[in-house]
Amino acid sequence: MSRLVEDVEERVAGIATGVRHVRARVADAARAAGRDPAEVTLVAVGKTHAPALLGAALDAGVTDLGENRVEELVAKRHALADHPGPVRWHMVGRLRTRAANQALDRDVLVHSLDRRRLVDRFERLGAEHDVVQPVLVQVNVGDDPAKGGCGLHEVDELVAYAREQPHLTVEGLMTVPPMPPDGTAAGAAARPHFARLRELRDRLGLEQLSMGMSADLEAAVAEGATLVRVGTAVFGARGDAPWEPVAGGPHAL
Ligand SMILES: *Cc1c(COP(=O)(O)O)cnc(C)c1O
Repeated sequence: MSRLVEDVEERVAGIATGVRHVRARVADAARAAGRDPAEVTLVAVGKTHAPALLGAALDAGVTDLGENRVEELVAKRHALADHPGPVRWHMVGRLRTRAANQALDRDVLVHSLDRRRLVDRFERLGAEHDVVQPVLVQVNVGDDPAKGGCGLHEVDELVAYAREQPHLTVEGLMTVPPMPPDGTAAGAAARPHFARLRELRDRLGLEQLSMGMSADLEAAVAEGATLVRVGTAVFGARGDAPWEPVAGGPHAL
């Protein structure tokens, strides 16, 4: 067997184990918080990983896949189109206004709606193509210049504006907390930000809360996350040779 095939087989087995581990972490955190684990959907974030590895996550029972670049989402969705069973896709990264057309789809939940211009673009595209686009409004709860999302003072207005549009449906809120300060556990640092997002969600009468990643998903589940976005703990570390959406490229599997 070639080295590459062995590597891939090893990675596929690792992904099945990763999915099991993450599900167990989610379930433990949910029970500890008196929640039903079924209230939390695992979104496996496959950025930089080849479509075959995302397919392995689906084989291991994952139903929801996330990407942070829309070009990658489109290419992988195409590559996995024949995979049996329904897949819900999640666009979790910053979206350029001009690239909104690539995300437009009622089967893609856009987590990163962060400005009126993007609302306007989705409304126009949705009207044109008869699509009601499901979205989450991303909030920069930690006011971190390195993170995307609208400011806390802008949320009410942006949510209200998006809700006025017939071709958008606002399902909830999403956040990425700031990097924890050195020596601080990720979960402990993130938890107040997650609590903040939940308060906002409740006040706005929304349903979904997209928060929690590999390092801090327990804190997110404890604070009410309904969608956790997990990359590393499912797929392993992102290598220095990312998969690129180029037909027949060196990393195409
Ligand atoms: C990459 C990414 C994740 C997953 O991060 P991990 O730490 O690898 O679990 C979650 N959300 C967003 C927006 C991401 O870009």
